[in-house]
Amino acid sequence: MKHDVDLVIANASELITCDGPSAGVGGSDLLSLEPITNGAVAVAGGRIVEVGSTAQILDRFRAADIYDVSGCLVSPSLVDPHTHLVHAGEREQEFDARATNRLAGGISTGGIAETVRKTSSARDVELLAKAEAALDDMLLHGTGLVEAKTGYGDSVETELHLLKLTRSLDGRNGVKVVPTFLGAHIPPKSDRAAFVDAVIAAIPQAAKLSGFCDIACDPVCFDFEESDRIAAAAVQHGIRLRIHADQAGPWRGLELAAKWRAASADHADYATPDDLSALAKSGTVVTLLPGSNFHMLEMTGAVIDNALAPAAKPHLPVLGAHILQSGCVPAVATNYNPGSSPSVSMQMMMQLLPRLFRLGASAAWYMATLNAAASLGHGERTGSLQPGKAADIAVWRVPRHGLVVERFGMNHIRDVWLGGRRVVADGKLTDPQAANQRGRNG
Ligand SMILES: [Zn+2]
Repeated sequence: MKHDVDLVIANASELITCDGPSAGVGGSDLLSLEPITNGAVAVAGGRIVEVGSTAQILDRFRAADIYDVSGCLVSPSLVDPHTHLVHAGEREQEFDARATNRLAGGISTGGIAETVRKTSSARDVELLAKAEAALDDMLLHGTGLVEAKTGYGDSVETELHLLKLTRSLDGRNGVKVVPTFLGAHIPPKSDRAAFVDAVIAAIPQAAKLSGFCDIACDPVCFDFEESDRIAAAAVQHGIRLRIHADQAGPWRGLELAAKWRAASADHADYATPDDLSALAKSGTVVTLLPGSNFHMLEMTGAVIDNALAPAAKPHLPVLGAHILQSGCVPAVATNYNPGSSPSVSMQMMMQLLPRLFRLGASAAWYMATLNAAASLGHGERTGSLQPGKAADIAVWRVPRHGLVVERFGMNHIRDVWLGGRRVVADGKLTDPQAANQRGRNG
């Protein structure tokens, strides 16, 4: 007897489940993506019931709706585990100055002050309109779950307000938004100890609004001891940590993440094999942010006095190899923000992994789905096409998973289902009324 289901998505050229344990996959398992040819997925009550070949699925299930996706790849929808979603302003002039060598060299945080000023003085309605437009773009590019940090407030009070705004964005267009309190992002010019005290004092309130606390432990941000004080307070209040670690140089940020068993250590551009082994042991996901490496021109040498200056981070392919060898669970994120990564596209980030880190398509898919969900504590619920998980499914215009990674610079999404509801159809939002409403308000 056949079982009744709501929906069967059938005849996928290739179906990839990205399945694995809810804590994510590392090491050689990252290379083991096994596509199902002519695949299908059965959905009921917003959840995945079964995945297999189309023949197997149609043999076992009777569907109220059979959706034919001949010629298309089917995968889990994408997960973006690191964004600075709520902010005001753009910084294209700073980028142009960097590209054309009219900006002081190296990693500059100068432009962040501009974003802090604009964000802190913006009206809520402006901040929400910009964030909602970005969430729509993310969804149109296949992302169904997004982490969103604060970090551009000019005071701890503003940070808590931004955290409330961020929370209010959850589910507005179907995308799940996971908020993170990033009170310790940009250090003050003076009295750093008092600033750290104020961040710590805000943690009980932040803990009511968010399950995560981020700390920027980096040469241009906070040092190990400052970060360690904040980490201890966060853990004491039951918030898990995400760490902006070692972007500008080795700075013990990864050691901090391992010490406190952080959910995620992000950037990690200077991670050593020992750091990565420690993070594998502490169960910390290592989240690469290739959009920043790319946009900050870190693998492109500048021309100074008619001579080629060496690139800032030529070592990233070695980091890619060390990640595979260490057995740590890696993820990838956009780091969407107006300064160092103004992109909402997880497809773009997957495309940058082989080009900057020499990581292949199989690893890129795990990093953008199951492992990214694992870093947010959502690995039990989403991130892979496994029976019992939410029916968070992407249908692609290309027939094979490698093409999403190979064919850069365009959006390959055709349809997206979140919780069994189709939210993108043929490249368009299915709820344009909500989008129009936002257009009028924005
Ligand atoms: Zn960031």
